[in-house]
This record gives sequence, structure tokens and C-alpha cells, in this order.
Amino acid sequence: MPLKLLCVIAHPDDECFAFGGALALAADRGVETSVICLTEGTAGSYRGTATSDAELAKLRRSEFAASCDILGVHHHEFLNDPNVYLDGKLEFVSLSELASGLVARIRDLRPHVVITFGQDGGLNTHADHTSVSAATTAAFHWSGSPKRFPHLGPLHSPQRLFYVTTSFFLPGRLNPMPAPWTLTLDIRSVFDRKQAAFQAHTTQSPLELQTRPVFAEHGQDEHYALAAITTPQPATQSTNMFEGIAE
Ligand SMILES: [Zn+2]
Repeated sequence: MPLKLLCVIAHPDDECFAFGGALALAADRGVETSVICLTEGTAGSYRGTATSDAELAKLRRSEFAASCDILGVHHHEFLNDPNVYLDGKLEFVSLSELASGLVARIRDLRPHVVITFGQDGGLNTHADHTSVSAATTAAFHWSGSPKRFPHLGPLHSPQRLFYVTTSFFLPGRLNPMPAPWTLTLDIRSVFDRKQAAFQAHTTQSPLELQTRPVFAEHGQDEHYALAAITTPQPATQSTNMFEGIAE
């Protein structure tokens, strides 16, 4: 059985600018990768040619699909589709509701490793990123518990939870307070694909252009913080997200 990686995000484009290196590297080594997105990204200030939220949702859905394709993602979906949660409003959805939706998906997809944002909200300190972090963390721990949502399919405990973190800040933005990293991924072999995936988000091209020099300077590595593991141990530095995983 192949190793499986699940990435949980808030908006189409998070999968590439934040997690693109990890996803492409995993795909290259034969890991089955899935991405679950919680919103259609209709609150974004960059809207391409869209004249309504419905049009923007349609564009961003197809951009998300194209980006996932470039990153070699095997499966992508929106949580609670077609009643996808609203961009910018995730903090107002109950933790229980978001986490139960994710528990159901984790029990179905059965990933070994889960990656998501940290509580800092990522490089742009977006509240939706903090919410997706909270819900994914709860779901990670609850999906293996017989006390939590026993009706939502056979229990499954993923073996590692990682939060994406950073070694640099974006200029001109409020700085997050990032988690110290425990994992450094050298993503030079997939950097072009990560960039191409971001460029597939045509509606977000002003953002991609604005951040391109920063990623060119700092983006040869992706950093993650190990947030949960199966056995008690001190934090150590690693360069392999799947080190020690039992298949
Ligand atoms: Zn986002």
C-alpha cells in the first residue's frame, strides 16, 4: 500500500504557495497525495475577469484543479461540496462542524501524514488559516478516537501532523509568530513546478508577481513544525517528512 499524505487548506492557491514543495516531492516519491480545500476563495481582492462571486468561484475551482495537476496531487476536493464554507468566515463555523467533516474525510482517505497551517495563520496571518489549523488539528486527534463521531466511518489515526512554518517574512505585511521548524525540505528539484502551480492561479497573478522575488530568494526550502507523533520523543531536526512512518 502506498504512503498517503493529506494536505488541508483554506483557499485555492494555499496548496501551492504554502505546501507545493511538500506535495510535489511526495508525489515524486510515489506517495499518494490528497488536498482538501475549505473555501472557494471568493473573498480574495484579486478577482481576475470575474464579475460575481459565482464566476470567481468557478474560475478558482478550475485554477485549483490545474495547480493540483501540476503538483502531481492524486485527489483534490472541497470540504462539504457543494455547500463549501465561505472565504473569510471560517472562524464563525463551529470547531465541531469543521472537524467532524474532516474526521469523515480522514477516516475515508486514511493518510499516514497530515499537513496544514499553524495557528499563526501562515505568512499572511489569515484568520481562515488559523481556523483550518484548529479544525485539522482536532480532526487529526479525533479521527482515531472511538469517543468522537463514531458514526463517521472506521477509525483511523494518521501518524504525523505537521504545520507549515517559515524562515522568512513577506515584506510590508504584519509578521506572523511562526512555530520553530523541525523539518526542512529541500524543494529545489520541484521549485519550478511549485512556481508553475502558483501561476496556474491566473486570478491571483498580481499576488504571484508580488511574491515571486521573495520566493526566488528564500523559497528553495519549505519548513514544517512537527505537531503530533505516535510515540513520546524530543523534537529533532529532519529532512524527510516520512521518516519513521509505518506503512
Ligand atoms: Zn489562504
